[in-house]
Amino acid sequence: MNTTPRSNRLHIAFFGQTNAGKSSLINALTGQDIALVSDIKGTTTDPVYKAMEILPIGPVVLIDTAGLNDDTRLGILRQKKTIDVLEKTDVALLVFDANQTPHQVDVDLISAIKKRNIPCIGILNKIDDMPESNATSEQALKDYATQFDIPFVATSARTKQGIDSIKDILIKHSPQDIHEHKLVGDLIQPGDFVVLVTPVDSAAPKGRVILPQQQTVRDIIDHDAMAIVTKETEFAETLRKLGTKPALVITDSQAFEQVSAETPLDIPLTSFSILFARHKGDLNSLIQGASTIDRLQDGDKVLIAEGCTHHRQADDIGTVKIPRWLRQSTGKDLIFEHTAGVGFKDNLDGYKLVIHCGGCMLNHKAMNHRITSSLEENVPIVNYGVLIAYIHGILDRALDPFAQAKMIWDESK
Ligand code: SF4
Repeated sequence: MNTTPRSNRLHIAFFGQTNAGKSSLINALTGQDIALVSDIKGTTTDPVYKAMEILPIGPVVLIDTAGLNDDTRLGILRQKKTIDVLEKTDVALLVFDANQTPHQVDVDLISAIKKRNIPCIGILNKIDDMPESNATSEQALKDYATQFDIPFVATSARTKQGIDSIKDILIKHSPQDIHEHKLVGDLIQPGDFVVLVTPVDSAAPKGRVILPQQQTVRDIIDHDAMAIVTKETEFAETLRKLGTKPALVITDSQAFEQVSAETPLDIPLTSFSILFARHKGDLNSLIQGASTIDRLQDGDKVLIAEGCTHHRQADDIGTVKIPRWLRQSTGKDLIFEHTAGVGFKDNLDGYKLVIHCGGCMLNHKAMNHRITSSLEENVPIVNYGVLIAYIHGILDRALDPFAQAKMIWDESK
């Protein structure tokens, strides 16, 4: 079973007019019936996501989106969802029917893609339907590439012509850095010991450790260091028995106070949520967001944004715990609003702070888009991990391993 988390996969999104052949191309590219294909315009409604392995590209998520030129009321709603997909897109493939003239929506989409600095590749599809197809498609390819100023390939999903060229051009134009966002490897040396503290309480999943903990262990061993995993109840004994100082201790936030008390001050200590705030987004911006919490006033509006619509428990973190902690810690009468799911708020007018979840279901691109959008609208943003560390008075120590973030924090307090 392939278990690369979806958020760590290259996100390749297919866009284009209705019936340009996006779904058929995805099926031809993967050799599977992933997308729903029909001659009826607008068959793809909500974006369809499929995690898979494309050799030699590696783990990817293919995203099939609704056609852009459906101007019915429902079609306009679908288009909004299609545009939202850009938030998380690492590479955009814009599909054209070689036998139709490009539409203004194609021009608008390309400019939206370029504005976001997303690599974009044009696909001239259905070339087998063109009259005298070879010479004509070559000329058409040149014309399209000049008109839109992006690289193009010619394909036919039906005859599979040009399908391998899509892979070649994807390899050439895909961003190389999506797996390079630092987790823990840059904080340790080969041969180091790292102690991970993972409480196993009633909220822990049965029979396994959670994904962020798995990813951290993997990153430690990938860097030729040694991971020692323990519960908080055995932590002090683990340190004693180790016989040598660990290079780093990483703990779940809820055990931070105890672990901090038991970790000598010359051993760097941080939390999984701080590590992932850096890995997933931009720790420095989130730290600056935390520094504005004390400036909140009565009646200020705070947006709590979550990356998915997960099942809420009675003492839910986003709707119950964070509002309670924040009211207690600031002593202010704050107004909380909530958003959850794929799209982020288009307009942050009137908000004094955005508090975002850890974004485990979002890729780096999507999380960064949310951070940048907030900052562009002059609304500070913090995430759950940094906020919880701040409210519980542990942010200072949890930032010790991150020199730049620590400096920003010290200056902004
Ligand atoms: S951290 Fe965010 S994206 Fe992950 S499960 Fe919670 S709400 Fe969803």
